[in-house]
Amino acid sequence: MRSFVTFLLLWLSALANAIELGCGIPFPMDNGTLSELEALANNSNMDPGSLGSASMFGHNDQYAPKLWPRDPATGRVVINYCYYDHISRGMIAPSQLIEAAIELWMRALGGPASQATRHGIVFKERQYNGYPLYCYEHGSWENWNHLIPLDTLVIRHVTNAQLAARATVGYYNMNPPHAWKMQMQIGLRAEPTVVVHELGHVFGMVHEHQRVDRDTYVKYQCERVPQFANAWALASQAGYTVRQLCEDPVIGLRYGFPVWDWTSGYATGASDNQGQPRVFPIFSDSAQYDLYSVMHYGTLVSCANDLSTCPLVKYRDPNNHAAGVEVIAHNGYPSPLDAQWVKETYSYYGQA
Ligand SMILES: [Zn+2]
Repeated sequence: MRSFVTFLLLWLSALANAIELGCGIPFPMDNGTLSELEALANNSNMDPGSLGSASMFGHNDQYAPKLWPRDPATGRVVINYCYYDHISRGMIAPSQLIEAAIELWMRALGGPASQATRHGIVFKERQYNGYPLYCYEHGSWENWNHLIPLDTLVIRHVTNAQLAARATVGYYNMNPPHAWKMQMQIGLRAEPTVVVHELGHVFGMVHEHQRVDRDTYVKYQCERVPQFANAWALASQAGYTVRQLCEDPVIGLRYGFPVWDWTSGYATGASDNQGQPRVFPIFSDSAQYDLYSVMHYGTLVSCANDLSTCPLVKYRDPNNHAAGVEVIAHNGYPSPLDAQWVKETYSYYGQA
């Protein structure tokens, strides 16, 4: 029987200031995976002009995220979701956490989908006669509720004490179609401002600080990433350099470095049906590096007393790095450029 992990995507996670651990679920790797990734890395088709409002859209590969489709009847881009089960709904829905995060996005977008706001995004819980439908039917992870279309976003409560929230990136409708491909996990420490970041991933956005030009604006210290030490212990034994571990997504993934949270120029799409992850170069639409993007990590609180120990800080002056560094604030609200990206990516069509 195929295990659940086969259906896991690589999670991109919110690293809220309060959350000091990187988030990212390991996935099964084998030699086949590695040779695929190596082939991808050698066939470097990264667009050197790809800057800003980063995404993985545009790759002609079923494991790369796609745009959420439009409802042909209304022209709206409807993101349907279901709670994993009644426990998940009971833990999350009473606090209106998801609704609050959606509301923050809608506020940033100027209001609900309309001609005036120029975006077509609508969120909708799957229901039957006014009652919520749950994604899961008892048995195993593979027991998807047959009343629910397979391309529905799953929202699940998880009890990992360190986790705020995490989500998969963009839309997938695999051929043959599979359920569980799009998920958002909500931990006990999730807040609306964290879920806002995860909804950005659901739209298809990847981390702003993974743009290929980020080193002009931020000082990234790979050795300060919490998972670095374990990954480096293995990679150094195999003869690799720090630079190879930190900058080459193939080598980073091989040794357990959280490439999907930090590595410049690349992000991860879905795992295939053998549980193998796919890596894709990042594209983007804006030339302006956006330190205010809700998709940009802030500087960790735990290192703020000594910025030399932080994985990520910003340069006071991007044109003069000798002027020193400072803390990057944690963004809990979509920036104007984030909102612009959504309006351009999911523009409003249809009747007023
Ligand atoms: Zn993230």
